Amino acid sequence: MIPLAIRAFNPGPMTGAGNWTWLLRGRVTTLIDAGTGEPQHLAAVHEALAGGRLDQVIVTHGHGDHASGVIGMAAAFPGVRFLKVPWPGRDEKWPVEWQPLADGTRVEAGDDALTVLHTPGHAPDHVCLWHEPTRDLFCADLAMEGGSIYIPSAHRGGDLSAYMSSLERVLALRPARLLPAHGPIIDDPDELLRGYRAHRLDREQQVLQAIHDGLNAVDAILPRLYPGIKPAMVPFARDTVLAHLEKLEHDARVRREGDTWTDVP
Ligand SMILES: [Zn+2]
Repeated sequence: MIPLAIRAFNPGPMTGAGNWTWLLRGRVTTLIDAGTGEPQHLAAVHEALAGGRLDQVIVTHGHGDHASGVIGMAAAFPGVRFLKVPWPGRDEKWPVEWQPLADGTRVEAGDDALTVLHTPGHAPDHVCLWHEPTRDLFCADLAMEGGSIYIPSAHRGGDLSAYMSSLERVLALRPARLLPAHGPIIDDPDELLRGYRAHRLDREQQVLQAIHDGLNAVDAILPRLYPGIKPAMVPFARDTVLAHLEKLEHDARVRREGDTWTDVP
């Protein structure tokens, strides 16, 4: 399996240099992620196909930078199929005929097959795609070299407890490489994923300590965790603090009453 990285040409504040999409050519020519429908992306996929057809697009999760391109793809590649784990209430936003994936599904891709690993946390429908023979994992937004992954709070579809479990699951697989949706290929997954785990647990301790010190609301905790944060980043930082509090509530270590959080003795 030789995956070909194709830029989605959608640079921006949330996507960095833009997304990678991954093309697997062969018996079942497969594109992993749809990008955002940029004409340059569609042209690059056409060029890579060199007159061949595109059979299917596996969408790793329903965030716009991965899924919104399906509209353009459906028009540019007649007969192409779209596959993803369902996210009811979100998938309707991209009105194509979705074929549902589930954890453990084996999907023919290229001249080989990929196994779907449902890895929620960043989004409820998030999947990684596992290629056992090479131990390559298409990790989508589970990990990114040189930065941490935004885990939204529950009302935005995030779940930090689930994300921590997804990290453990991927660590246990011992992948050789991670092929992400953002940034370079990750050649030492173990080190990066262990670093993520340590960072989140550190943050969690800081949140617990803040509550213990009487900072009982998200906006009170925020400046302690993110001193000197840029105003534009405040909504994401606030939501990250909330995601931590929700995990701590799930672990029965804090209690919530409205917007007030207290520690459980
Ligand atoms: Zn995402």
